[in-house]
Amino acid sequence: MKKPSRRQFINTSLALGAGAFLNSCQSTKTVESGQLPIIISTWNNVQANNAAWETLTEKGNILDAVEAGARVPEADPADQSVGYGGRPDREGNVTLDACIMDKDGNCGAVTFLQHIKHPISVARKVMEETPHVMLSGAGALEFALEQGFEKQDLLTEKSKQEYIKWLETAEYKPKVNIELHDTIGIIGADSNGDLSGACTTSGLAYKMPGRVGDSPIIGAGLFVDNEVGSAVATGMGELVMRSVGSFLVVELMRQGLSPYEACKEAVMRIVRRQDTAELQVGYIAMNKDGTYGAYSIKPGFVFAVTDENGTIVKDAESYE
Ligand code: ASP
Repeated sequence: MKKPSRRQFINTSLALGAGAFLNSCQSTKTVESGQLPIIISTWNNVQANNAAWETLTEKGNILDAVEAGARVPEADPADQSVGYGGRPDREGNVTLDACIMDKDGNCGAVTFLQHIKHPISVARKVMEETPHVMLSGAGALEFALEQGFEKQDLLTEKSKQEYIKWLETAEYKPKVNIELHDTIGIIGADSNGDLSGACTTSGLAYKMPGRVGDSPIIGAGLFVDNEVGSAVATGMGELVMRSVGSFLVVELMRQGLSPYEACKEAVMRIVRRQDTAELQVGYIAMNKDGTYGAYSIKPGFVFAVTDENGTIVKDAESYE
């Protein structure tokens, strides 16, 4: 089916009375012309991108590539927002969320998973080995152990000491950009333009026990539609979940917006409706020809892009 042109889409939007939409996405300044194959990820995850690129080069499989990329910060104790070494919840437990999605619309997710270093790989097993999309908590752990994953303590000494210090006040006020959250969302396209994506996090530091953010929620933290493109989110998950952000970005691209314009409009939906005073959200997105874009609420959001020229880290444009 032929996609509507941008002009047709704008006319449709006007017919629907969506004037505010127009104000928010006139600029095409940072539309990036990409090329295939391509990998992009949230924040400064250069090593993750490089691992994804190597896997894509060796195996030619974009799903394997994004999984390999996500596993890098999961295994890195210095990354306190993902996997091993992640900051705990307010009871001192490291609880992990992750999801993965392939070109055929298959997806898998785990939430509130403890003691397993690579939730992204458990999410992939949920996708491939079960009739379900998501497993949570004790059930997700039981499944992971059945699948041969090793049970281990994920709380590093550094994260433990910071948590003990936090307990002195136990003041809970998420300030996502200030906490320097590094949740990794990684999306890629192979040389045919086939897409996959992965997202993995330890969530907000000192969150309420049981809190699950956007990152493992298909459509919120990640969405892949092989007809159109893919998107992934980072930042304050509650803002993203309320607006089903990644699905929105992909649907806006389906209607003719560039990845940059779609990310911007999804951010504007949040800014227009929710209190974002101290909160950050950033989106990255790509379409099937490797064109990519990003946008965030506040300055400071960066993303890593890898193609055959190597990996570079770029600043996203922001609303503020
Ligand atoms: N989106 C994640 C969450 O809300 C956090 C982050 O991206 O930094 O759990």
